[in-house]
Amino acid sequence: MSRLRLEGKVALITGGASGIGEEAVRLFVVHGAFVVIADIQDELGHQVVASINSNKVSYQHCDVRDENQVEQTVKYTLEKYGSLDILYSNAGILGPVTGILELDLNGFDNTIDVNIRGMAAAIKHAARAMVEKNIRGSIICTASVAASLAGVGTLAYTTSKHGLIGLVRSACSELGVYGIRVNCVSPSAVATPLSCKSFNLQPSEFEAIFGAMANLKGVTLKGKDIAEAALFLASDESRYISGQNLVVDGGDTVANGRQL
Ligand code: NAD
Repeated sequence: MSRLRLEGKVALITGGASGIGEEAVRLFVVHGAFVVIADIQDELGHQVVASINSNKVSYQHCDVRDENQVEQTVKYTLEKYGSLDILYSNAGILGPVTGILELDLNGFDNTIDVNIRGMAAAIKHAARAMVEKNIRGSIICTASVAASLAGVGTLAYTTSKHGLIGLVRSACSELGVYGIRVNCVSPSAVATPLSCKSFNLQPSEFEAIFGAMANLKGVTLKGKDIAEAALFLASDESRYISGQNLVVDGGDTVANGRQL
């Protein structure tokens, strides 16, 4: 049996009811963690908990746009499992798919609210708990290849993910003194409910189309690959890594230099 890399650790995973977050929930539990899923899709969240069928995982309704709900979820995690060692701030949305000339600014605001403000709220309250309890924790955010490359028609999303890099770097600079690490993981295109719905494609169609454009052939990027990168950043194996953006894109940003 392989070594448990998060044995006894407590993790809070936002957006854990679906897609990449759900994969991380399952992987972290397999590696011995206690996990609280924070999401707005209550039915899906409860289904994930039921399917894992372990007292090591539980669900809390939490809209990351609402700071009070984020604070309460952190409190719940501490009360339920007695610690908070890992925050995987992963909840995100694509937002409006338009160019700048037709930009829906309300949709733009909502994208920033979820993808940056929500991440800031999660980092703030998780870090406060870690500092108060003297926990040398690990914070991971899901960014994207859109954090470093321009996108056509995904202006709000691309702006939000670029901004997230600044948030992660700033939080890394402030929290190092407490022994808290802050990093992000940046996927390229993965077939999840978010991405498939946005492109109106079935997962197999999505993977065929994006796989054909991808740099790395013969392998399909899955949500589990992103969860594995987050697991590495959550575990003590990355204990001296902070302020970094771990890009999981098979080399697309280097080889292609554009979002697919
Ligand atoms: P997904 O839609 O399957 O999962 C996102 C989860 O976040 C959902 O369960 C959703 O309910 C939750 N969520 C959305 N708004 C929320 C809110 N206000 N409060 C709490 N939870 C909320 O999508 P995914 O593809 O797994 O996306 C996860 C992360 O990965 C996002 O940050 C996304 O930007 C990023 N990402 C995805 C891809 C991709 O191709 N799928 C690529 C790069 C980055």
